Amino acid sequence: MNLIGEHTDYNLGFVLPIAIDRRTFVAAGPRTDGRIRGWSMQEAESFDVDLASLLPGSLDGWAAYACGPAWVLAQEVALAGADLVVSSDVPLGAGLSSSAALQTAVSLALAGMAERALSGTELAMVAHRAESDFVGVPVGIMDQMISALGRRDTALFLDTSDVSYEHVPFHPNDSGLVLVVIDTGVKHSLGEGQYAQRRRTCEEAAGVLGVASLREATLEQLDSPALTEVQRRRARHVVTENERVLEVVSALLEGDLEAVGSAFVRSHRSLQHDFEVSSPELDVAVEAALESGAVGARMTGGGFGGSAIALVPVGSTGALAVGVEEAFGASGFASPRLFQVAASDGAASHG
Ligand code: ADP
Ligand code: MG
Repeated sequence: MNLIGEHTDYNLGFVLPIAIDRRTFVAAGPRTDGRIRGWSMQEAESFDVDLASLLPGSLDGWAAYACGPAWVLAQEVALAGADLVVSSDVPLGAGLSSSAALQTAVSLALAGMAERALSGTELAMVAHRAESDFVGVPVGIMDQMISALGRRDTALFLDTSDVSYEHVPFHPNDSGLVLVVIDTGVKHSLGEGQYAQRRRTCEEAAGVLGVASLREATLEQLDSPALTEVQRRRARHVVTENERVLEVVSALLEGDLEAVGSAFVRSHRSLQHDFEVSSPELDVAVEAALESGAVGARMTGGGFGGSAIALVPVGSTGALAVGVEEAFGASGFASPRLFQVAASDGAASHG
């Protein structure tokens, strides 16, 4: 789950995710007949496919996600097939990256069976190619990096331009706060092509400004009359969001959670008004959280639904639940689901 740094990854900027204390488990056993078989507690359909016949785009549904890592790894190591049994308490499609959790876990399991040791970054690369090249979803590297490299009580400060990273302390309990996820229950469909459109506008804006990516743009440059109004607003989000990530990293190093909360709110406003990827449900969640005593709240993930997060005093979680529930009711939205999360360890293999 991303603390801050939204829509910055494909602009080669900064992100700051944590691995939450939810898990996707994969029990894997070797086969010798070249088949990959899979069962999931979260999906009705099982699958049984031939490893040699795997091609990008050849599978639908969750089989594509589960087999992607096999397709990637088979290009480098000898795989003779596997049985995979999956169970997860990561909500699917809530913007909490159940897809990266599944693919990182399967990658780790298959690499382990092939006795191939992967560094955290290599593991993330395998899982990322599985999603972008095999399933065909043009995602950034953040979700796989945090799934592979997450560490308890820390956030991962990741520079997506060179995939360098640093673990930064994240333990809001020390400041009497907890991190609460508000899952709106609205399934994000990446806003029907809106994601691709945002990406394109960012690339166009970078082109107009003569920089390789918006990572390199400055606020002053955004005054350029060559930018359209929409390009200016989209670019302003990216430039200021990168600054906010740096601000939050400094604040975390200083233990100043009030400053983190303030950056959360400014990030949300920027996503709401400049980048225009929020949704009515996410906006209501953020307003209600702030009115219920949160020191900060924002949408997290790509937007158009999914989840918001709130940093809340330990004693205010009850008021938050009531406040958000009432606000959703008053707006005619279905009840959201609230749960606390803590920064936890990433992928690990056992046995
Ligand atoms: P998100 O990553 O935000 O949860 P996605 O649409 O990217 O949403 O990925 C969700 C898809 O990943 C599911 O529709 C399913 O195909 C696959 N998936 C994730 N977790 C599981 C699981 N535990 N069992 C089977 N498939 C899963
Ligand atoms: Mg996903």
